[in-house]
Parts: sequence; C-alpha cells; structure tokens
Amino acid sequence: MPDQPIFERLCLIGVGLIGGSIARVARARGDIARTVVAHTRRPETLARVRELGFADVVEEDPAKAVAGADAVILCVPVGAYAGVMATIAPHLKPGAVLTDAGSTKGSVIRDLTPLLPKGVHLVPAHPMAGTEHSGPDAGFAELFHGRYVILTPEPGTDPAAVEKVAEMWRRAGSMVESMDAATHDKVVAIVSHLPHLIAFTICGTADDLAEETREAVLKFAASGFRDFTRIAASDVDMWRDIFLNNREALLEMLARFSEDAHALGRAVRWGEAGFIEDRIRRGRSIRRGLIERKQA
Ligand code: NAP
Repeated sequence: MPDQPIFERLCLIGVGLIGGSIARVARARGDIARTVVAHTRRPETLARVRELGFADVVEEDPAKAVAGADAVILCVPVGAYAGVMATIAPHLKPGAVLTDAGSTKGSVIRDLTPLLPKGVHLVPAHPMAGTEHSGPDAGFAELFHGRYVILTPEPGTDPAAVEKVAEMWRRAGSMVESMDAATHDKVVAIVSHLPHLIAFTICGTADDLAEETREAVLKFAASGFRDFTRIAASDVDMWRDIFLNNREALLEMLARFSEDAHALGRAVRWGEAGFIEDRIRRGRSIRRGLIERKQA
C-alpha cells in the first residue's frame, strides 16, 4: 500500500517542462498529493494540459487554483514571480507551503517574501534537472530521478514545511541538499548559467561568420559545436529571466572565466605547451569526477 500523500491539494502555477513533470510524477505515484491542481497563463496551454490529463483539476483563474491548496509550487520563469505572487498571495491558505522550481534563489526570496502572508511557509527549491525542451508536452515523470534538488529556506523557516518539500522531492526520485540562497546562486552561475551564456555566445559568433564559413560550421558541427547548440536551444523567456535575476553571481563567474580564457589564449600564442596540457588535464579530471558521481 502506498504511503499517505504528503499533501491533500497540490497546486502547480505553471505547467511546462518542470510543472508538467511534477504533475506526472505525483499522478504516477499517488503518495505525493491526493489532488493535483494545475494553472497556466495562456488559454492554449490550459487546453493542452486538459488534453494531456496529468492534473485532476485545470484552473484558469490563479486565485481559485491556489485557494484551499496546502502546497503551491511556482513553476514559471523567475521574472514572473513578483506579478504571480501579487495575484495569488491574498488567496493562499494559512499553514500552506509555498515552494518553487526557479533556477535562481536570491531573487525568488527577494520577490516573494514581501508579499508572503503570515502563516504561509516559504521553502524555495531548485531541481537540478531539465532539458532544452519546454511546455507541458516536454514533461515526464522520470525527469527528477537521480538528480539533486537544492532547498534554500531562510533561517527560522518551519522545519515541518521544509521536511514536506524535501520528502516530496525524495519521492520524485531526487537527492535533496540545503544551502543558503547566495551560495546556491554562485554554484549555479558556474555549473549552469555561465555554460549557457557561453553556448548562446558561441552560436552567435558562428552565425556572424561569412556565409560560406557558416555553412561549413553547420556541416561539420559534430566536432564539439553540436553540444553547444543543444544547450543554446533553450527557452528564451526562462534564460533571459535567469541572466537578469542572477546578475551579480553570473558577472563574477564571467569575469573569472574571461581571465582564465585569456590566460589559455596567451599560452596558445606563446606556444606554452605545458600550460595547455595542464588545462586539458584539469578538464579531463573534472569529467571523470562527474562520471564517478553518476552526474554525467
Ligand atoms: P516552460 O516549460 O517554459 O513552462 C513555463 C510555464 O510558465 C508555462 O506554464 C507558462 O505558461 C508559464 N509562464 C511563462 N511566462 C509566464 C508569465 N510571465 N506569467 C505567468 N506564467 C508564465 O518552463 P520550465 O522549463 O518548466 O521552467 C519553469 C521554472 O523552472 C523556471 O523558473 C525555470 O528557471 C525553472 N527550471 C527550469 C529547468 C529547465 O531545464 N527547463 C530546470 C530547473 C529549473 P503559458 O504556456 O500558459 O504561457
């Protein structure tokens, strides 16, 4: 017999890749929530969510969607949080848990806390899982299997609320870690946001090349460029919002990266083979470390 559901009524605000995956895993397991409510902004997405049938209730009015829910998860781009919160805050149930899936955490606390009703527990969360696809069709129940979820509750947050969110992610198949929001934002700036910035840039640089060279780049892309194009195929709104809402950490990592890239460029210019070999060896050992941790 499955365990008792953690939540009676779980409301997802935003049901694209992440919200759609949470709904699917909740539906598949039965021990995360008794009822899954889904709200999304555009009528065409609402209609598609109804067709896909992974939520018990599909609600077009966000205020009605959150009413009576004991857990609400924001799964919209982080730049939309303040506006969404202004709409839902007056309707959140006292004692409810408010959590999210956003890729930045300092901005989430900044945007949600001022409007947080008394008695509602904010537990910010970031599942370190995703693909370059978006929208409700892109979701799947196994997305979070074996992936980390980082929680960044502020000191003094109700431990029972934090534990419910942690248990939800464990039941979705994830490993849960906690840290403060500033540390989270630095870590993701280097492991995720900077790599995306580089991928968008390198694709732009290739696109700027003369017609003939650009054609050859696309033809022979398999030699490394292709991996950048996969990352660069990500959603525009989501990545614009991430860059704008993790600005300090991203700029700091970009500055460090630029220095290191210049150093490697200098070694290439002056034929410093030892320096170049050392950089390649460090890259290889980081890759081995990821494989050992089963995160490759
Ligand atoms: P997605 O597939 O594009 O879905 C976004 C959802 O948010 C849709 O339901 C969309 O509704 C809604 N939405 C978009 N803009 C909105 C706005 N301005 N106001 C209200 N609703 C809006 O995105 P996702 O990949 O699931 O990402 C959701 C969140 O998870 C983001 O904060 C992202 O940073 C985070 N995240 C993403 C990944 C990833 O790899 N994709 C990984 C970890 C965390 P309509 O379609 O109805 O407009």
